[in-house]
Amino acid sequence: MAYGERGRRVPVVDLADRRALQRYRPADAEVIEEARRLKEAALLDFGLTESAVASWLYAKCHHQIPTTAVDTAAVVASGDGSCLLLYNPDFFVGLGLDGVKFVLFHEARHLVHRHLFADPDLRADPVFELASEVSINHVALVRLGRAELPLLNGRPTGVNPREVYELYRADLTAHGLEPLTYEGFVETDMRVYGELKRMHHPPVPERRLCVRLVADAVPADQETVDLVASSALLNSLLAARRGHPGAEVELLDLMGRTEDGNARAARLWGKLGAGVLRGETTRTRTVDWWQRWLVDVLASKLREGERLVYPKKRGALLAALGQDPLLSRRGPVRDKVLVIAYDTSGSMPNRVITWLTELVGRIDGVQAHWLSFDAVVMPFVPGERVYGGGGTSFQVVADYAEGRTEVNGRRFEETPDAVVMLTDGYAPPITPAEPEKWIWLITEGGDEWPDRHTPAMDCHRVTTGSR
Ligand SMILES: [Zn+2]
Repeated sequence: MAYGERGRRVPVVDLADRRALQRYRPADAEVIEEARRLKEAALLDFGLTESAVASWLYAKCHHQIPTTAVDTAAVVASGDGSCLLLYNPDFFVGLGLDGVKFVLFHEARHLVHRHLFADPDLRADPVFELASEVSINHVALVRLGRAELPLLNGRPTGVNPREVYELYRADLTAHGLEPLTYEGFVETDMRVYGELKRMHHPPVPERRLCVRLVADAVPADQETVDLVASSALLNSLLAARRGHPGAEVELLDLMGRTEDGNARAARLWGKLGAGVLRGETTRTRTVDWWQRWLVDVLASKLREGERLVYPKKRGALLAALGQDPLLSRRGPVRDKVLVIAYDTSGSMPNRVITWLTELVGRIDGVQAHWLSFDAVVMPFVPGERVYGGGGTSFQVVADYAEGRTEVNGRRFEETPDAVVMLTDGYAPPITPAEPEKWIWLITEGGDEWPDRHTPAMDCHRVTTGSR
C-alpha cells in the first residue's frame, strides 16, 4: 500500500481498533520480532541524524503495531487524538533496514503534508496526489542519500520522481511547451503540482502505490493530524534552536518547499515562529512577536548539556535494547523543569495563559509547574480558576522556586531550568539566584524593569490587543 505491488485493497479491519489489528492473522513470531527490530533501528537513525521531524512524529505514535491488516505501513490519526503506526511485518522484513527507513520517512512526510496542505479542493485532485508522491519521494531520496527507490523482491517500488519528470518533459515537448529542468521541477511542492498541471495528459497515480491514494483507507482525522504534526514541528524547531544542525537544515528545507504558493503553510510556519531559523523578524500579524521570542528564549534555556548529546554508536544501543528505545532517541536524560508563575494581582488576559498552556503542553521532555502569586505563592493546574488578592511580591516566587519556603507544607524539590514570570512588573525588583534562567513577560502598560536591572534578565512586553 505505501509501497509496492501488494496493496490493492481497502483494509480488512478498523484501523483504529488496536485489539482487532493485533488479532488479525498474526505473522510468525520471528518475523514480527525482526520487523520490530528494523523499525526501532530506523527510528533511531532518524533521531540521531536523518530526520528530526520523522523522529518526533513517531515519538507521538504511542502505539506501534505489527499487523497483517495493512499490506505495508501507515500512520493512523484517529478521532480521539491518538496516532498509531501500523506496519506489516512481512513487508518490513522483505524491505530490509534501508527500505524500512524510506517507507517510514515517506509516511511521516504524508502526515506533515496533510497538516500543511489541508485544502479539500487540492486534496481531491488526483494530480495533486501524484505531485505529493513525487515531492515526498524526491525529498526522501535526497535526505536519506539514496540513488534509487527501495527494492522489494528485487524490484524498485513507489512513485519514481525521475520517471514522472520524464513523462512531463515528453508531454510538454510534444505540445511545443518549454519544460523545466528536473531541479526546477522538484524545487517546491506546489511547483511539482503546477508543472504537472501544464501537461496535456497528466499521469494519474496508480492507486496501489500508496495507501494514502485509496480514498478514506486510512483514518486521518484532520484535528489529530494538526495536533501531532504541529507538535512534531515545534519540537524539531526547539531542537534546531538548541543547536541540532540536522533539524535546522531539515526545517529550513521543509519550510522553503511548502510555503511557496501555499498560504496555509506560510501561516502555520509563521505561527510556529520558524522564521527565526532564517533570522527573520515578524512578517505576519496573526502571531505576536513576543510569542516567537518566547519560543526562542525557551529553546535556549532548555538547551541540553554537553553530556546529553545523542549516543553515537547505534550498534551499541541496539545491543542494549530491552531499554525503552524512545528514550535513547529523545536525547535528554531527564525532563527539563519549567516554572511558570502568573501574577494574579494584575489583569492577565486569558488568551495569554491559554496560548502558553498550549505551547508548554506541546513541548516534549518538559515538566511544567504552574504557580499563581500575589503576596503569596499558590500552585495551580492550568484550567483551574485562580484568585488574586492584594499586594505583589516577586521575592515569594524566587523563595519558593529556589526551595527556601514551603507552600501547603511542601518545599519545591526541583531545580528549575527556566522560570517564566507573567506580570505587569509592578512590585519591588528582585535578583534571583540564577537570573539567567528567568524570563519576564510584561503585560501592556507594565514596567519592564528586568530589562534595566543589574544583571539584566530576559524580558519582553506581551501585546494583548486584538490585532
Ligand atoms: Zn505516499
